[in-house]
Amino acid sequence: MGSIKENLSIINDRIANAAVKAGKSPKDITLIAVTKTFSAAQVNAAVDAGVAHIGENRIQEARQKLPDVKEGVTRHLIGNLQRNKVKYAVKLFDMIQSVDNIALAEEIDARCAKMSLKMPVLIEVNTSGETSKIGCHPREALTLLKAIDRLPNLSARGFMTIAIYSAEDEQVRDCFKRLKEIYDEAQTLKLENANIGTLSMGMSSDFESAIEEGANMVRIGSAIFGSR
Ligand SMILES: *Cc1c(COP(=O)(O)O)cnc(C)c1O
Repeated sequence: MGSIKENLSIINDRIANAAVKAGKSPKDITLIAVTKTFSAAQVNAAVDAGVAHIGENRIQEARQKLPDVKEGVTRHLIGNLQRNKVKYAVKLFDMIQSVDNIALAEEIDARCAKMSLKMPVLIEVNTSGETSKIGCHPREALTLLKAIDRLPNLSARGFMTIAIYSAEDEQVRDCFKRLKEIYDEAQTLKLENANIGTLSMGMSSDFESAIEEGANMVRIGSAIFGSR
């Protein structure tokens, strides 16, 4: 592994190549540097090297680390969120990517109402069927979107998934295709608060396939920071 700066430069080139292959401009793809387990100093090194978005998956870790992270970087929650931790999440994060049930959405809405805040969220979908993964069933995704759309302090922006853990590119791509279909169908709905434009899929091992299947946001950790 090179330095964070060198790794980032390689990743940005790979994202750009995949984007062009998918008929997109590299700037259409948003990179989230996934900073879980890495220190605030490492996060700040990435910010100095040009990272504009970071992703954390645990509230407790984020509460300790994020106060030491430079301002101006957009903070995404990408991990499982329990309802009793929502009060922290709405203060720590600019986007919550892991909304997979209406009770959680309602709790976020209630907390944001108190702060006069409108929280951008993604609906996390379990596209692999693996029981170890959170996310709503693909069949429930649009119903959940419509329910979230009625909550005034939430703004649904799109969908997020983690693909199947598999060495088979075909199987991984099937997960991405499933989410892209849901995303495309969501575009046809009449929605109030929602503004569907984000398809968050792809990690260090599979982000090029994800971009080729339509991702416009990728979440990359180990390929930038090293193994955890
Ligand atoms: C950890 C994590 C990533 C990044 O994984 P890498 O393999 O380190 O790139 C992306 N998305 C989510 C939801 C994660 O928890």
